[in-house]
Amino acid sequence: MAITKLLIANRGEIAVRIIRAAKELGIRTVQVHSAADAESLAVKMADEAVNIGPPHAAKSYLNVLNILEAAKVTGADAVHPGYGFLAENAAFADAVEAAGLIFVGPKGDAIRVMGDKVAARVAAEAAGVPVVPGSDGRIDDPEQAKAIALAIGFPVMIKAAAGGGGRGIRIAHDMHEFETLMPQASAEAKAAFGDGGLYIEKVIEKARHIEVQILGDGRRAIHCFERECSLQRRRQKVWEEAPSAVLPQDVRDKLCASAVALAEAVNYRGAGTLEYLYDDETQHFYFIEMNTRIQVEHPVTEMITGIDLLREMILICGGEPLRYTQDQVRMKGHAIEVRINAEDPAKNFMPAPGTVTSLRLPGGPGTRFDTMLYQGYQVPPFYDSLLGKLIVWDETRERAITRMRRALDELEVGGLQTTKPLHQLLATDESVARADFHTRWLEPWLEANAHKLSS
Ligand code: ADP
Ligand code: ADP
Ligand code: MG
Repeated sequence: MAITKLLIANRGEIAVRIIRAAKELGIRTVQVHSAADAESLAVKMADEAVNIGPPHAAKSYLNVLNILEAAKVTGADAVHPGYGFLAENAAFADAVEAAGLIFVGPKGDAIRVMGDKVAARVAAEAAGVPVVPGSDGRIDDPEQAKAIALAIGFPVMIKAAAGGGGRGIRIAHDMHEFETLMPQASAEAKAAFGDGGLYIEKVIEKARHIEVQILGDGRRAIHCFERECSLQRRRQKVWEEAPSAVLPQDVRDKLCASAVALAEAVNYRGAGTLEYLYDDETQHFYFIEMNTRIQVEHPVTEMITGIDLLREMILICGGEPLRYTQDQVRMKGHAIEVRINAEDPAKNFMPAPGTVTSLRLPGGPGTRFDTMLYQGYQVPPFYDSLLGKLIVWDETRERAITRMRRALDELEVGGLQTTKPLHQLLATDESVARADFHTRWLEPWLEANAHKLSS
């Protein structure tokens, strides 16, 4: 049952990306949107558009009934959830299927296992994949939690089972802090994710964030190598690259094989990412979570492998078997992505929505800019601040960084403050050039370089 009309239950640059993939496959598109997004690029590009509610996401992009109604009215036969919003909501995936539509993602049950961070840890261990030392399951008993924290040793990380997007994570340095943070963390997780469930993990100091892209068709899975996303602020990725500059080939082989084993263990369908922390001194890697959806940084993998991940996920979920064998996936060169956000780096990255008064986009060899911006576009204040992603590819990492500097120089977004100055500074930094960083490297670096970012 091939997909003929795809409804996009998302917004922003990923909606534009999905529409492009669908059009190239000859699939018609329906863009649902909130009242704040009536003038969005995705709405202009799609074949049809349906207003599904007011700006507040809970009433529009998270409104399952309205989204399903829009699918019915337009005769869409499939729904792509993008990332964020309903992308990792198992009940939504089930509701889409119950309505007789194709969900472009894994089965609800696979989301239930791998989208819940605690269940995913259990599945990883069962598949023989090392996880960060921590609690075996959710912790509900405060005394038991204290005992586990003591056994692990401080500092420990308190994480929400349903957390995501860098939210729902706290660090406790001692028992006193732990006892204060636990109830707060639970209440906040309940409010933010509708699930107060917590678990704890040892803090891996100076770890790198390395993740493996996989594609599966429910029977078989392959990997498309790794991405390194160690440059983070508030546990959110800022700069991503593929491949990792530091991973020895034998470790890469083991890491990627572990991801395939885990994906196959849950009969994974579609595109997914297994995230790990990697300690380059010991060469140990530890599974942290799976994102059962397309990720923001997927383009760097597309650039080094030549595989169109959006196309593949749409074809697979439309019923085609995986078109690649593992041997056919090769990597070439190096790719880097930087996130261009509507934030002011000089004002502690305060969100800075506004109107795009002028726009100059970078181009030329090995240069890609995935964005929903156009001149005159008003960036609404209701959603996340990602405006676009600048992606470059070149033969080597060194050349890719040079190309990134060149492409950043070309990019001009008039009327808005963006994170471009941060990336210009990173692209000339010596530690970045040597890939000498870890997940907690960027924040102190920002403190030290604040004066260079003040406009
Ligand atoms: P990626 O690994 O693709 O970079 P992120 O974790 O940065 O993914 O999340 C991508 C998007 O999804 C962001 O807009 C983020 O705010 C949102 N997101 C991720 N997980 C959740 C969640 N559990 N609840 C709400 N939003 C989420
Ligand atoms: P999210 O669902 O919000 O993406 P993750 O579990 O993927 O949460 O963690 C986000 C980031 O937090 C990681 O990329 C890493 O920088 C940091 N982190 C998570 N777990 C640990 C840990 N056990 N030790 C050290 N850093 C961690
Ligand atoms: Mg994560």
